[in-house]
Amino acid sequence: MVEKWSEKELHKFRTMIDGKRVKVTEELKDVRERAEGFSTGDSVNAIYSSHMADAGSDQQEREKLFYFLKRETEYLQYLERAIEMLDDGTFGICKTCDEKIAEERLNEVPHTSQCFNCKTAGK
Ligand SMILES: [Zn+2]
Repeated sequence: MVEKWSEKELHKFRTMIDGKRVKVTEELKDVRERAEGFSTGDSVNAIYSSHMADAGSDQQEREKLFYFLKRETEYLQYLERAIEMLDDGTFGICKTCDEKIAEERLNEVPHTSQCFNCKTAGK
């Protein structure tokens, strides 16, 4: 018999994923505001002081922000995918071998649809 996740366990995952989703959404909002501030400042810099001494570090800081934004946006999409999987009942079950996916793996990558063994084997 194939073991499935209990309602209680699934509820625990949903709470965990929802918590992460709220946190990431707030972080994204925060970082977006900072990134927007940067781009406004940049157009002013470009016109009035194109050879400012700290332009380089500004650029680096901005790249870091955009990298963070990109990564967090992707992460948010993964979390939303995981919620969909919880809704349609495919969450936490390997699509290849139909076994439960290890809990620590689900905590790391909740949207995964394959267990570690199948993923590693490239099935
Ligand atoms: Zn598997």
